[in-house]
Amino acid sequence: MRTSRYLLSTLKENPTEAAVISHRLMLRAGLIRQIASGIYTWLPTGLRVLHKVERIVREEMNRAGAIEVSMPVVQPSELWKESGRYDKYGPELCRLKDRKQNEFVLGPTHEEVITAIARREIKSARQLPLNLYQIQTKFRDEIRPRFGVMRGREFLMKDAYSFHIDHASLEQTYQDMYDAYSRIFTRLGLDFRPVEADTGAIGGNHSHEFQVLADAGEDTIVFSDGSDYAANIEMAETIEVGERPAVGAACSKAATPGCHTVDEAAQALGLDANQVLKSLIVRGERDENGKYELIMCCLKGNQELNEVKAGKVKGLSNPLEFATDEEISAFCGSHPGSLGPVGFKGRILVDRAADKMGNFACGANEDGYHLINVNWDRDVPHYEVCDLRNVEEGDLSPDGKGHLHLRKGIEVGQVFMLGTKYSQAMNAVVMDENGKSIPMEMGCYGIGVTRVIAAAIEQHHDERGIIWPKSMTPFDVSIIAIKPGRCPAVHQAAEDLYAKLEALGIEVLYDDRDERPGVMFADAELIGIPHIITIGEKSLANGELEYKDRRTGIKENVAIADMVAFIQQKLQA
Ligand code: ATP
Ligand code: MG
Repeated sequence: MRTSRYLLSTLKENPTEAAVISHRLMLRAGLIRQIASGIYTWLPTGLRVLHKVERIVREEMNRAGAIEVSMPVVQPSELWKESGRYDKYGPELCRLKDRKQNEFVLGPTHEEVITAIARREIKSARQLPLNLYQIQTKFRDEIRPRFGVMRGREFLMKDAYSFHIDHASLEQTYQDMYDAYSRIFTRLGLDFRPVEADTGAIGGNHSHEFQVLADAGEDTIVFSDGSDYAANIEMAETIEVGERPAVGAACSKAATPGCHTVDEAAQALGLDANQVLKSLIVRGERDENGKYELIMCCLKGNQELNEVKAGKVKGLSNPLEFATDEEISAFCGSHPGSLGPVGFKGRILVDRAADKMGNFACGANEDGYHLINVNWDRDVPHYEVCDLRNVEEGDLSPDGKGHLHLRKGIEVGQVFMLGTKYSQAMNAVVMDENGKSIPMEMGCYGIGVTRVIAAAIEQHHDERGIIWPKSMTPFDVSIIAIKPGRCPAVHQAAEDLYAKLEALGIEVLYDDRDERPGVMFADAELIGIPHIITIGEKSLANGELEYKDRRTGIKENVAIADMVAFIQQKLQA
């Protein structure tokens, strides 16, 4: 490719809208451009990278026995009503009507469509197991699209769906997909960890996420230093070992004027935040009339509610919904900053760590006041103890082996055992050997193909730009001709080398713009071309070309005649 005939679109300045390094570099290197919030065009350089990622994903999916299909983005709403997800999925599901007022959705995922296909096409148990995949555009109307293609609204996903006669067969394919994912992310040069995961809106009963370790990640993953336990923090269970202190003086009221937070109350009372109870009001599950009760969740003041674990407690809204300030004032008689379990007239859930507190402080359910020396049982007779908080650095591992450590991760893939959730709801059945019709067991397996690229850049860059893992480079070699217009020999040498490398199928970006050398160099390094060859009048006079390794920065002179072999050797290394 000649730069003069290409759309390079690099930017010198850092775009102000980009908060993370990968977003900045993807804009600066001319990989993507935003056209609306969370919706991007892939420019030529970005698309070259995207195609490389797709190729690796396809190769490994095919090798694992999956078969490629292509399903529509626009899906009839009826299918979503059949599965029961039309109402459940919420505002992330983009809904639209055609000119005849038929209702459709833009596919955020494809369980419904594939199950509709499977129930028509799979007629006999002999066709099972079957694993179908596609690489295709998804649309999710994310509440907070950000970080470029890391959390877009329109994005590319590889999604696969497997069908089985029984659970044992599902387990086999799940393991095959787990192994294929490990190969894919290894080939893509990513530092990743598979972790136990929540199944969220997709559903099912067993799941792993593949997390790329990076500070820009939106997920927190935890792992033990004493075993191979690793999980998304959403799933990590807490283990408490301490004992409650002995019950002390009677509970009494203390004025805490103007205190709205745990820290403010702790300071006013001369306590540490971990001696103050944090009381949050959430909504219970809705009944058939849409009505729900208000429930109090109590935690140690310095700890955080885990909304995913709380949402799984029986009777709570799931996804967890918080009560509004108006609901709280009407039900409790005080504002959110003064709440506590003493005298609370609803269900009270107490986190396992908060259950170990004694002689603690909490809101008095009266604005401007807290209670001190509060004790469970004596002052709060009715409560349920459950696992509500996030684990913290140094906590015991739930398997009892070692302690937990926390890291940030970018979720690049997830595998799920769905069981019969969709096949039952949508009547995707096969006959077993006794002629009885049974719903097929299903698994589903996603990779965020576009997100993978952002994740790779988070892990591989320096102050000059992107350093691609070998498998993702947009071009293998950059040829920079210095002042070819002034020196015909430079022009000729560059043309010759370009023709030879291209003939070998090597992907070359030949910078023939006659720009300042600094500009051409900065562009090659910014977009992360691993091998940079400079052709200048001086070295050419010595029969040499200058080579620079993008990653190490090391330069060396190579004889003109040896350059092609030199590059071939570098590409094989
Ligand atoms: P997240 O928790 O990040 O919202 P998810 O768990 O909802 O993602 P899945 O339904 O598991 O996503 O989708 C499979 C893969 O698609 C994810 O592992 C992720 O890599 C990718 N993905 C999901 N949402 C987005 C998005 N908004 N933008 C880019 N990639 C996404
Ligand atoms: Mg996921």
